[in-house]
Amino acid sequence: MHTLPQLDYAYDALEPYIDETTMMLHHTKHHQAYVNGLNNAEQKLREARESGDFSMVKHWERELAFHGSGHFLHCIFWKNMKPGAPSQPQHPDFLTAVNSKFGSFENMMKHFVSASIAVEGSGWGLLVYNRTTNSLEVLTAEKHQNLGQWVVTPLLVIDVWEHAYYLKYRNDRAQYVNAWLNVINWDDVQDRFLKAVASHI
Ligand code: MN
Repeated sequence: MHTLPQLDYAYDALEPYIDETTMMLHHTKHHQAYVNGLNNAEQKLREARESGDFSMVKHWERELAFHGSGHFLHCIFWKNMKPGAPSQPQHPDFLTAVNSKFGSFENMMKHFVSASIAVEGSGWGLLVYNRTTNSLEVLTAEKHQNLGQWVVTPLLVIDVWEHAYYLKYRNDRAQYVNAWLNVINWDDVQDRFLKAVASHI
């Protein structure tokens, strides 16, 4: 079961930048709702696996993505903030990564701020590390799920765009998905799992 994490500081500790009431409601109401929703979605999917009844799988996958992304991103968000004097990045490895991608810390922050302001509707601005390119990137998320959970590392992925199967399977995606199970490289999947666990932060 997922639980609401304690904050490392009081609700009023980020005043005057972020007000106490906003922090209290954001943490105890909004984040708590993501935690509850994620636990419920995981429970419903556990029941589906046990009963073999996946008739509601699309709905619960959406709930899993929405509440999971909400929970995991807020866990990072609270830790990303602290009261007191603003800190500056110091670590040479981080600064090297910043400079190689963005040219300078100032350029990166200009990009991050502009992208965050430009998010349409509800969402997030994110500075991320891309494991595949071994580099930093600024990304945005509209809402936050659609239909993933940020902070996950992909282990096994199947392309279900029509271009991946239409010539052979036409509109029968189920036949393609079931056929695809025969070509999975589980050594690669396990390797990715072990690397992800080893680099868990
Ligand atoms: Mn929020």
